[in-house]
Amino acid sequence: MRDTLIQIAYLLAAFLFLVALRALGKPDTARRGMQLAAFGMAVGIAATLLNARIVSYEWILIGSVIGAVAGYPLGKWVPMTAMPQRIALSHALGALAATVVGVGEYCNGLSAGELGRGHVVALGFEVLLGGLTVTGSLMAFGKLQEILPGRPLTFLGQNAFNLTILAIGVASLVWLVILPIGGADMPVVVSLLNSYAGLAAVATGFAIDNNILIIVGALDGLSGFILSVAMSKAMNRSFSNVLFGAFGSAAVVEAAGPSTAGGEMMSITAEDAALRMAYAEKVVVVPGYGLAVAQAQHQARELADLIEKRGGDVRFAIHPVAGRMPGHMNVLLAEAGVPYVKLVDMEDINEKFAETDVVLVVGANDVVNPAAKTNPKSPIYGMPILRVAEARSVIALKRGRGAGFSGVENDLFVDPKTSMLFGDAKQSLITLGLEVKNA
Ligand code: NAP
Repeated sequence: MRDTLIQIAYLLAAFLFLVALRALGKPDTARRGMQLAAFGMAVGIAATLLNARIVSYEWILIGSVIGAVAGYPLGKWVPMTAMPQRIALSHALGALAATVVGVGEYCNGLSAGELGRGHVVALGFEVLLGGLTVTGSLMAFGKLQEILPGRPLTFLGQNAFNLTILAIGVASLVWLVILPIGGADMPVVVSLLNSYAGLAAVATGFAIDNNILIIVGALDGLSGFILSVAMSKAMNRSFSNVLFGAFGSAAVVEAAGPSTAGGEMMSITAEDAALRMAYAEKVVVVPGYGLAVAQAQHQARELADLIEKRGGDVRFAIHPVAGRMPGHMNVLLAEAGVPYVKLVDMEDINEKFAETDVVLVVGANDVVNPAAKTNPKSPIYGMPILRVAEARSVIALKRGRGAGFSGVENDLFVDPKTSMLFGDAKQSLITLGLEVKNA
């Protein structure tokens, strides 16, 4: 009876996870999706606590208290820009749990003399993938948090060395895969590791005969994999290029050659930039990683509101890999209260640039770099971009002449129709807002 009840609860939890995943696919239902997923998790945990194999609840209680004390501040106060490393850390802990369960199950089975061959294979797979995910996620965390160097770590004869290491032992695999990857490619790696963690959970599920772990692990494994593929696709880069291409390294950037456009960047004063926007009919804001760094989403919305009050029409152009994780810009702008209808996907907004008076680029670089279309040697060649250069005029906010994530120069910034407003994006947007009010 108790077992049947547990299985029914697991089925309910699995159903809730599926509905939650679906809801998470759209910004306006994402919050409800998270609530459903949390409820599903609570149902799954409650059902597991009814398991007859639990001999004492004390350690579970202690673990739950420690988890809650550590998890609450993590969820509440970690800023959006630090989200990729927070996720990497969570994966490391989740995978550590799977690994420890695998080792524990093996020891239990050994002392009870109940270790079948299939059981050992499942446990071995679980510990292997779990261990890989723990180490890999910690490396990813180190790079994103800049404890380890963010640039790709490369050296002469690296591939030959890597192959030797691969032959020596699976333990070295993590180093082989993770070390040569640039810090900003880490989101792809993190979601790939997410996929491994899911597979480790599936293996755990088979090893300890737990249906919910098998279902959830499969969902996690597949969604992590699909996300990694989607990110690579949006950057027009193959998986092997992300894992072995050392994107952003000096050698790759050098091979791209200098900017082909020539010319100098022209700067503009906040007053002139504001005048241009105040009298524009159609304005498109292109947010990028710099907006996230500056935490300037609220100021961007306020400026858009001011322009709209004067009769202008303002849209936000969303590139699928702007920022450092999928949906990065959507989340930030939604948090600032920008209505969803104002967020326009790349495919749709690209048709509109030709009739746009002013494009305001806020800390975006690679996602608006025309070299993706014009320079076949560029590391970003072939990546779909926002065709900002087609607009009547462009104002770009950035702190200086720093390159984007790919490390290559951006021809858009030396285009005669582009004016640069240098400074931190938040401060520049505040000044622009004040000037638009006075215009
Ligand atoms: P980006 O190419 O990384 O460029 C960001 C720009 O923001 C920099 O040029 C920087 O110039 C400027 N900036 C930084 N801090 C700023 C501040 N406080 N105020 C104003 N400007 C600031 O950004 P992106 O155009 O969003 O492109 C994203 C890149 O990340 C793409 O290459 C994409 O492939 C990659 N990526 C994305 C994901 C994802 O899922 N979203 C995953 C992996 C990789 P200054 O230093 O001169 O200010």
